[in-house]
Amino acid sequence: MSNYPPGVTGLEYAIAGADEQAMSRALECEGCGFDGDVDGTLSSYGDDAWFDAECPGCGRQVRQDLFGYWADVRRDAAEQAAVDAWSER
Ligand SMILES: [Zn+2]
Repeated sequence: MSNYPPGVTGLEYAIAGADEQAMSRALECEGCGFDGDVDGTLSSYGDDAWFDAECPGCGRQVRQDLFGYWADVRRDAAEQAAVDAWSER
């Protein structure tokens, strides 16, 4: 499971400097009870990121703060690479 765009491993150092990209994420709206995936924009600053989207249920703007997002992405990628390397032996 990953949220990388195709061709991105998450190991690229430059990824920490990525500013904005479109993506979809799970959203639970406190306002209207919507619970599902929404399309929005992921913005990054260093290892932190935040996701802005508009709730399809009520139309309000929601933001998810994702502290340490890219650190988690890199850690998950490193763990997956280790698993892959082990299973290919
Ligand atoms: Zn809503």
